[in-house]
Amino acid sequence: MKTAFIVSTGTELLLGTTVDTNSIFLSRRLTELGIKVQGKAVVGDDAGDIKSAFEYGLAAADMVISSGGLGPTNDDLTKDMACEVMNCQAVLVDEELERVKDYFIKRGRPMPESNIKQAMFPPGAIILRNKRGTAPGMYLKNDTSLIVLLPGPPHEMKSMYLHEVEPRLLDDYALRDRSFTSRTIKVFGPGESQVEEMLGELIKKPQGYNMALTAKSGEIHIGIQVYGNDINECLKKLDGITNRVREKLGNNIFGVDDDTMLEITASSLKQQGKKIALAESCTGGLLAKMLTDLPGSSDYFWGGITSYSDEAKQLLLGVKEETLNKYGAVSFETAEEMVRGLINISGTDVAVSITGIAGPSGGNDDKPVGLVYIGIICDGSYTVKEIKFGGQRDMIRVLAARTALDMVRRRLHAQEGK
Ligand code: AMP
Ligand code: MG
Repeated sequence: MKTAFIVSTGTELLLGTTVDTNSIFLSRRLTELGIKVQGKAVVGDDAGDIKSAFEYGLAAADMVISSGGLGPTNDDLTKDMACEVMNCQAVLVDEELERVKDYFIKRGRPMPESNIKQAMFPPGAIILRNKRGTAPGMYLKNDTSLIVLLPGPPHEMKSMYLHEVEPRLLDDYALRDRSFTSRTIKVFGPGESQVEEMLGELIKKPQGYNMALTAKSGEIHIGIQVYGNDINECLKKLDGITNRVREKLGNNIFGVDDDTMLEITASSLKQQGKKIALAESCTGGLLAKMLTDLPGSSDYFWGGITSYSDEAKQLLLGVKEETLNKYGAVSFETAEEMVRGLINISGTDVAVSITGIAGPSGGNDDKPVGLVYIGIICDGSYTVKEIKFGGQRDMIRVLAARTALDMVRRRLHAQEGK
């Protein structure tokens, strides 16, 4: 597999005033092309640093693709450094000089001397047209390496890459017949390191595919990319890997690609013709809000009770005063009485209770901030789960609501034999 190293140049990228979006775009495009991005560097407008990054990149990968530093000013150094590392010398290209001159004539301005630089290229370089700006790019290939220089402004860089670079890469590296396919498998429950451990060799020693994990509000996404010469072979291979991931992670997986936990759970409720009722304390109706974000939720959502105070828990759900006094509002016992009280009122197939300490105050050593009890009754069988979430108030509430949803999802999927 061919490899690339990306170099983003520009002191503004190091100061934190400009976000390096160029390398994100290039990473994605190159990956989809079947070129492995070996690494990337961000360097300031410093000749030595740019040269080091180019040298490192050329040693590490088959090609270096850089953006930035192609303008006419003194801090625009990438072309000089590219020539140095490729052992060649830039010479004036008459045709290019005419083009630059023409640009200034059309605008009725004199051409500054420094712009001559933009018309200088080493012999053998392919000059890349810039449809959206003045600075041309460069595609310089020798027997062993390739260096590509793109302009810094993202719209110029993207347009030049798509029109001038990608087609050349496809031809030069015989990538036209390469196929690419990808899938994201979505997991809720185990943490990132746990998922990694469960995947074992599948992620540690991938054979002919890429696999990487990302964590997103409690979910772990397993991204898989497969490359090959034939799309059907790629898809077959991807299905094979997906099956092996399923064997390892079972019902911790809730969906793939665009699936959301909410839609998956909602669709199981709908398919099974079940209705759900909620009794929420620390989440204050957040789960009810989430469920009703989906159009058509009246098919399966009975309603929710926001039983925030002790009094509301007693009056609306029939939680006993002595239970609250003896065990507290955040306890197994209260969560159980909440969910049992709720199902008596609603008569639904599924009922969920959530009670916990979202903080920042209200916690102690026995019951710290982030402690949450989730009770669930599904078709008559009952569970309460104790969980300790980390993070701030908002995060704790979101995670509590999503965990409750995930518990429902697991129960429904168990019934579907998933
Ligand atoms: P340059 O071609 O180096 O003169 O860059 C011109 C402008 O493009 C900079 O001032 C930035 O605003 C933008 N730019 C340069 N490099 C990047 C990058 N890697 N990601 C996003 N924007 C960039
Ligand atoms: Mg720059």
